[in-house]
This record gives sequence, structure tokens and C-alpha cells, in this order.
Amino acid sequence: MTAYQDIIEKIALEVKPLLQEGKVATYIPALSRISPEKFGMSVATVKGELFTIGDADEKFSIQSISKVFTLAMIMDRIGDALWERVGREASGNPFNSLIQLEYENGKPRNPFINAGALIVTDLMILENKDPLQDLLGFVRKCANNPEIGFDAEVALSEKMTGHRNAALASFLKSYGNLVNEVERVLDIYFHQCSLSMSCVDLSRAFLFLANGGTDPRSGKMICGPRQAKRINALMQTCGLYDECGEFAYRVGLPGKSGVGGGIVAVMPGELVLTVWSPGLNPSGNSLAGMKALELFTTYTARSIF
Ligand code: GLN
Repeated sequence: MTAYQDIIEKIALEVKPLLQEGKVATYIPALSRISPEKFGMSVATVKGELFTIGDADEKFSIQSISKVFTLAMIMDRIGDALWERVGREASGNPFNSLIQLEYENGKPRNPFINAGALIVTDLMILENKDPLQDLLGFVRKCANNPEIGFDAEVALSEKMTGHRNAALASFLKSYGNLVNEVERVLDIYFHQCSLSMSCVDLSRAFLFLANGGTDPRSGKMICGPRQAKRINALMQTCGLYDECGEFAYRVGLPGKSGVGGGIVAVMPGELVLTVWSPGLNPSGNSLAGMKALELFTTYTARSIF
């Protein structure tokens, strides 16, 4: 056992009192049933080591973490044309905000807020005959796990209650920045958010971003080194919505969160760290998860800064 195992065991004990402090997402009814007591963490290194603690093997709804996969696919497919339809600046606003979109005439700030992700989904539909099947193939390849799938119940649950996303998609359409029908874009978007993966799956799936675009286990190139650098930069500046500054200050790594309570953080050249704790803070980021990642970079004295 190397030091990482000891460290994550210590962290799991330390964050336990925080598990009750966050609030499980209730606006997606299927997520509101998840116990806030769940906690998992996994570290996958580019050398092939894996360290886990708690519920690291249990699947959960990855929600907005899926935005990294769709972005990687679309950047690879259409390159810089993406930036004609979506920006790449921090939003400083909640992930589902409508206000900025009006000020900025229907061009979302970045691909990791919901409005920007809906643009990426629109492009996925234009570029792929079967976008969901292609996304699944991509994620399974990244994680090296053919069992990964969508959670139909979560997707349906969000479809029934996703009025804000419907508003965002309609708003984009009104500005001429959505090509496909609103219903179709939302259907694909809710399915991509419903991807069900464990901490271990996510740590493995993101390893290409810690290794210049190539999966260190299989040697398969997932994207070029330039794209990997750019995706990490976008995660650093936009991955935690209006808490990117806080996350950079406390954790110091590129990261991406989701309202299912997962956060993935990348230490380029070294490892991927994933944490899952369903209780969220007011910005929609895992409360204990942020603390766990902060403790990891504190105890290991490592970050990109
Ligand atoms: N599916 C969620 C939504 O669109 C994803 C948001 C998130 O994880 N931040 O509201």
C-alpha cells in the first residue's frame, strides 16, 4: 500500500461529519432518493495503480461530468468551429442561469454551463447518426468498461421536471443558436446526464486527460495533446460554475462536478481523483467532495500551482 491509500482513508474519516451538511439534489426527483451517507473516492495513476475507499465502486448519476465527454467528442470532430457558437470564459453564474444568456445574445459563456452544454449536444446530433450510442461507445472506451450505461429512470425524471433546461434550449433557439428541435436536444441532453458510473469508472475514464490525450493503460489515443491541454484548461476555469475560483483556491486542480455529487479532478502527468458524496452546497457542487479533494492536495502537497 502506498501513501495514497493511507491518505484517502484518513480523508474519508475526516469528512464523515460533513456528509449531512450538504443537500441532495431534489429538483431531479430520482436523485432525491439517494442517501447523503454515501461516500466514495478513487485515485487512478498514469502508472496503473488504483486506490479506493468507501462506495468507490457504486454507480451514481454523473450528470454534468458528462459534459467533458461530449466536449471531447465535439472538439475532436469540429475543432475551432465550436467557438463560433459557445464561448470559453468563466461564467461566474449558476450552472442553469438564464440571465447572462440574454445579455450575451444567446451565446453561452462556456461548454460546461447548461446552456453551453446544450449547444454541444445540438452539435452531437448534427455530427453523429446515433449520438447516444456514439457517446456510450466513447465513454466505454475511455473507462475501459463495456457495462457503462444510461439510467433511464433518471433521464425520464429529469425530462418531467427539467423546465429550466427547456427554457434555456428555447432561448437558444430564439437566438438562432440551436439547429435541432428543442425536444430532441433535451432528450439527448437528459440521457447524457443520466450516465451511470462509479468513482473507479470516472477516474479511469479521465486518465487520458492526465496523460496528454492517450489512455496510459491501453495506449489508445483518445484525443491529441493539444485538445487534452485545452479541456483541462476549460475544466480549471469553468468546471465548477460559480465556484471555479473557490475550487482553484482550495483544491488547485482542473475539475468537473455534477449534481449527482461527483467531482473528478485531474493532476496532469500523474493521476485522476474522483470523489462522490451526494450532499451539495448552494452552488450545486458536492460539499464533502470539495473538502475531500482539498484535503488530498493539502496532504500530498501537490497541485498544478
Ligand atoms: N442534468 C442537470 C441539469 O441539467 C445537470 C446539472 C449539473 O450537474 N450541474 O440541471
